[in-house]
Amino acid sequence: MSQFISVFDMLKIGVGPSSSHTLGPWRAAQEWVQKLRDSNLFNMIDSVKVDLYGSLSLTGKGHATDLAILLGLSEADPEYIPIEDIFTIVDRINTQEELHFKGGKQIVFPNNAIQFHRDFLPFHSNGVTFRGYSKGKEISTETYYSIGGGFIVQENDTLEDEIEINKQNFPYPINRAKQLEEYCENDNLLISEVVFKNELEINSAEKIDAELSRIWETMLECMYIGCHTEGILPGGLNVKRRAYNTHQKLIKDAVYSNQKEWITAIRSTEVKFREILKWVSCFALSVNEVNASLGRVVTAPTNGSAGVIPAVLMYYLVIENHEADFNEIKQFLLTAGEIGSIFKKNATISAAMGGCQAEIGVSSAMAAGALTELLGGSPAQCLVAAEIAMEHHLGLTCDPIGGLVQVPCIERNSMGAIKAINAAEMALETDPKEVKVPLDKVIDTMWETAKDMHKNYKETSEGGLAINVGLADC
Ligand code: SF4
Repeated sequence: MSQFISVFDMLKIGVGPSSSHTLGPWRAAQEWVQKLRDSNLFNMIDSVKVDLYGSLSLTGKGHATDLAILLGLSEADPEYIPIEDIFTIVDRINTQEELHFKGGKQIVFPNNAIQFHRDFLPFHSNGVTFRGYSKGKEISTETYYSIGGGFIVQENDTLEDEIEINKQNFPYPINRAKQLEEYCENDNLLISEVVFKNELEINSAEKIDAELSRIWETMLECMYIGCHTEGILPGGLNVKRRAYNTHQKLIKDAVYSNQKEWITAIRSTEVKFREILKWVSCFALSVNEVNASLGRVVTAPTNGSAGVIPAVLMYYLVIENHEADFNEIKQFLLTAGEIGSIFKKNATISAAMGGCQAEIGVSSAMAAGALTELLGGSPAQCLVAAEIAMEHHLGLTCDPIGGLVQVPCIERNSMGAIKAINAAEMALETDPKEVKVPLDKVIDTMWETAKDMHKNYKETSEGGLAINVGLADC
């Protein structure tokens, strides 16, 4: 049986700033508490300790891993928690030194209950261990690994355990890009149509549409908030939000009062090449500024790279096709999701495993392939576009200054988005039969490069910009 990763596994609604360091540990904490409840240990637990290892420890403070653990242990849901409640809950735990579970149970949780360890666990670089005690005796110990994109596993899990729901047979089992291309060719289908047929095995058409619509609305809201929020990002780097000013200059005195009218207003602005670059950059910056301030974003495929896909889709809607509606949005997200899942199955979408090529590189490839389909490219050309986008991110390291998902991360989303558009345009002018590097080969190359990459460049903030430009310089 081939493993199927749903588009909803690749595009998840969550809270910034990091899918591997925020969303994953949050989900792990939630899962551990649920396990306690299921095994009847919950009522016995009177204290909890948490150990963070490797990259989760080294960049955990900057990536808000400790806050995510607190929220997960409090059984808050990252998809639905009101953003304004986040700091209320965290402040209460830190001040009262108590955890409050659903149903009213409270236990002592001192400020040193989360320990940061520099060493790495052998299984994966993002490890977190939860320990539960009753009268001083350890009665529950579980270790989870956050493997990127909000996915979590335990040591002996397979991908199918990781994605519980997707164990049935699918009409188009896809592991490699070549298979996807052959299905499209044999059955005369677009990539998005193949993906939709697979998705129908696990959800109704109405549910798929409703969820895709919710994902897009979250992306749009994120861009809207980012474009209308001034100030300095939290974390101590003193990074000024830039989407606000860029947006003000581009939108000028247009009048609008909601997101729908905003799209219409942008469509009415005059856009030449320079303005197009600025709009796309602005959309990407806006998302990642919201992400950096612990706002609600869609992991696509990660939080650090959450700006690329919304920026490219918005580009299509406001620049390329003013008549576009939900059908195009759906096509784009389905195609992007499938391309991302091929990377996940054959390489990684985790910066702790593969550096930034696994985040921005993958998101750029997803966006490039999806845009190519909307621009009328063949399925083979979509895969060429994804290949071009990744090829020119190969080797990209992860070296965030101060462990924060801000520099170089925020700008990097703009670059990934622009490269995706360029890759799509190049692919549309390419005969796929003449391509020297197929997508599968570039994915294999990315994975080999990931394995060869020094650990200092894998989300540890121990190399590159993170040490040449430290927090003290900012
Ligand atoms: S450098 Fe890239 S991979 Fe690393 S945190 Fe920033 S966006 Fe994510």
